[in-house]
Amino acid sequence: MTTKIAKQTNFDALIIGGGACGLMCAVQAGFLGKRVLVLEKNDKVGAKILISGGGRCNYTNLYASPQQFISQNEHFCKSALSKWTVEDAITFFETYGIIGKEKTLGQLFPESDKAKDVVNIFTGLCADLGQEIWCNAQVNDIQKVESGFEVYADIDGEPQILIARKVVVAAGGLPIPKMGATDLGLKIARKLGLAVTETAPALVPLTITGKDQPWYEQLSGNSIFCRVWNDQASFEENILFTHWGLSGPAILQISSYWRPGEFIYIDLLPNQNIEELIAQQRDLNGKKTLLNFIATLYTRKFAEAIADRLPAEKNLASLSKTDIENISNLIHNFKVKPAGDKGYDKAEVMRGGVSTDELSSKTLEAKKVPGLFFGGECVDVTGWLGGYNFQWAWASGFVIAASL
Ligand SMILES: Cc1cc2nc3c(=O)[nH]c(=O)nc-3n(C[C@H](O)[C@H](O)[C@H](O)COP(=O)(O)OP(=O)(O)OC[C@H]3O[C@@H](n4cnc5c(N)ncnc54)[C@H](O)[C@@H]3O)c2cc1C
Repeated sequence: MTTKIAKQTNFDALIIGGGACGLMCAVQAGFLGKRVLVLEKNDKVGAKILISGGGRCNYTNLYASPQQFISQNEHFCKSALSKWTVEDAITFFETYGIIGKEKTLGQLFPESDKAKDVVNIFTGLCADLGQEIWCNAQVNDIQKVESGFEVYADIDGEPQILIARKVVVAAGGLPIPKMGATDLGLKIARKLGLAVTETAPALVPLTITGKDQPWYEQLSGNSIFCRVWNDQASFEENILFTHWGLSGPAILQISSYWRPGEFIYIDLLPNQNIEELIAQQRDLNGKKTLLNFIATLYTRKFAEAIADRLPAEKNLASLSKTDIENISNLIHNFKVKPAGDKGYDKAEVMRGGVSTDELSSKTLEAKKVPGLFFGGECVDVTGWLGGYNFQWAWASGFVIAASL
């Protein structure tokens, strides 16, 4: 057996992970005259940027503020988000050729609709600034030593130990394991005695099983504008029925606040009052059946499915007070108890991560382990759907760069 010799590097820092946070950190460090080496396990950097927003990359949100982030410490993200604002993101990308266009709800995408343009900015700047990126470099472990940190990696299949004074852990979260996601960030934190909060898939579709499942399955492909809520949050966006349950932006949003065993509630006609609509229709055409009336509000397929649970063939004039209360309850207060979620294979982000108690909110340096920084998704800061997660990744990378 050969013993590997640890190699002292002359980089100011090693960055583990060439994703959104690691790449922004490398570029910003370069602007400040610091030299870093990015270690990326995949054969190219920015894999998640490339698939984000359906390949178009929703890279920030015009309305991003600390309110759209979930964390055990809701104040933690404030410092970084104030140092790297949405304006900073817009200006940065514009400076290097990406003009943003707003799709919906403040979501900014490159005008070109190409996520690749975003990655190209980072790889181009790293090359210009002399920042090194090593791909096919899988980090397995790190160890604190007197001169900094030993980083144990397989580089092009060869085990190597690199030493650097500072290390940035920007290894992302657990979603999409087939794209190379690992738990390295959480593993390093635990190993060095830092607390990790409970992690779970977030921004993830929810499943329905048992006797209710066929009802959802028959509606597969139907999309409806709704308000979805629980006791913690409320979102007005589309929901999408699928063979196995519910998806669509409003469901992904509420999933980040949902825990197994809990209900979610859906208003299938937000900002309108079904009782008032029925009363108006009754005056105009009381002979209309309830089914035909509901079909004026939704697709025929959805109207038939929802009317299944109602006196569908009664005409509007003959609906009783109780009938109307039941209709109102079903439409405005539709109760769903998901069986589970689609897991990390389908989640857009991980909830939870390295506890914010362990990190300085100003620098993202571990309080107990000077020289070690955590940024991006592996930290317990999780954004809503809509460009917020990249805003956090950019902001945390920016803040860390200033301390390298
Ligand atoms: C399908 C999908 C669509 C999304 N769309 C959007 C969107 O439009 N807008 C938005 O704001 N957010 C979106 N997100 C979320 C966003 O991609 C992440 O929040 C963001 O990429 C997190 O940045 P990060 O740098 O922390 O992690 P990542 O970007 O995941 O980067 C981590 C990097 O570390 C590397 N790595 C992991 N383990 C190791 C190891 N052991 N050694 C070396 N390298 C390692 C990984 O290969 C990866 O390249 C989407 C996510 C998914 C899954």
